[in-house]
Amino acid sequence: MTTTRFAPSPTGFIHVGNLRTALMNYLIARKAGGTFILRIDDTDPERSKEEYVDAIKQDMEWLGLHWDRVERQSDRLDRYAEAADKLRDMGRFYEAFETPTELDLKRKKQLNMGKPPVYDRAALNLSEAEKEALRVERGNGVWRFKLDHERIEWTDGILGDISIDAASVSDPVLIRGDGQVLYTIASVVDDTEMGVTDVVRGSDHVTNTATQIQIIEALGGTCPRFAHHSLLTGPQGEALSKRLGTLALRDLREQGVQPMALLSLMARLGSSDPVELRSDMAELIEGFDVNRFGAAPTKFDVQDLFPLTAKHLQSLPLSDVSDAVTEAGVPADLAEPFWAMARENITTLGDLKGWWELCRDGAEPLIADEDREFIAEAMALLPEGPFDGNTWGMWTSAVKEATGRKGKGLFMPLRKALTGMERGPEMATLLPLLQMIRARG
Ligand code: GLU
Repeated sequence: MTTTRFAPSPTGFIHVGNLRTALMNYLIARKAGGTFILRIDDTDPERSKEEYVDAIKQDMEWLGLHWDRVERQSDRLDRYAEAADKLRDMGRFYEAFETPTELDLKRKKQLNMGKPPVYDRAALNLSEAEKEALRVERGNGVWRFKLDHERIEWTDGILGDISIDAASVSDPVLIRGDGQVLYTIASVVDDTEMGVTDVVRGSDHVTNTATQIQIIEALGGTCPRFAHHSLLTGPQGEALSKRLGTLALRDLREQGVQPMALLSLMARLGSSDPVELRSDMAELIEGFDVNRFGAAPTKFDVQDLFPLTAKHLQSLPLSDVSDAVTEAGVPADLAEPFWAMARENITTLGDLKGWWELCRDGAEPLIADEDREFIAEAMALLPEGPFDGNTWGMWTSAVKEATGRKGKGLFMPLRKALTGMERGPEMATLLPLLQMIRARG
């Protein structure tokens, strides 16, 4: 059965880059009728925070990315220790004692000599006595996985055929000197034991994948299908990494971005299919294919979310937004006509309040001197209430008849007199609303 997971580290709020990963894994699972796991990668006790675990869950719920179960790596440390013992018994695990400064120096030397900065495996030559002496001097060493020096190959769902020479990669550190298990092995143990069939993650993980494939094989597991999506850049192709802090999902929510707008963009951005606003999750699932994504960096412009949000809001009935309409201060009996007018004129629900205040308080009429007489004449022709959707048409016909004005010369001065603006809501929808508000007093 198809099983995927989204595996954030709870060290911060999730942002648009994380969302891409989460969404792709979610859609794959749902399309196949499989399982979607939310895995909390919290093996780093110092950086992992409970408040971020809660925030991640809230953000996912806001988007409607419901998980089937939650797994926490901190609950599974004994499983990782067991796997580490297995690798040790197999002779694929070795202790190394270099300090970060020593490693840095080694890397610099290699680079100076035009060689790739790959760990030189010096620790493999240490005798037991030397290791013991180093332990006394420096404390426990780190544990590295001994890669088999051969080519590591897989067919990537996005990048196509990949072949990496294991000799060009350092033996990964899987356990730190203080005993902390690192993501590379924890993830492999989880993916294997939880039957994960498909892993989609950012292309910054490609080298990890190569080493993880060898670890999975050493532990006797089955490799999932891997797909690595490109990283997001800003609209100009600039690195987004520094700005991701401002692109947290909660900030976007705060700015009024609608979940469907965000999901619709993210499910297509960087793929060969056009971005289209989808009306619900079922449509997103239906139209998703991870193989249609490209390897090139993907430009993301937060501004693209607003037209999609506006379009989404336009499609909603009052029942979907009644809370927001109430919050904007609109009385219940006016909610229906108000929403009919407002939905065509807002970008986010945050704009409702301004429209309501404008309707309630009325705008300063905008009347040019040469229109004064015309407006007075028109006002005299305004029928008695109650108004409905036809009132504007009937009234302007009567005004046309009486004044001989037509087109823009007829409509624009009326609009400006009534709304104080040159552009804005459909007058036929606005007029009955304004009349109802005035009638309430
Ligand atoms: N916790 C890892 C990360 O946030 C998970 C990567 C993966 O999907 O394997 O990058």
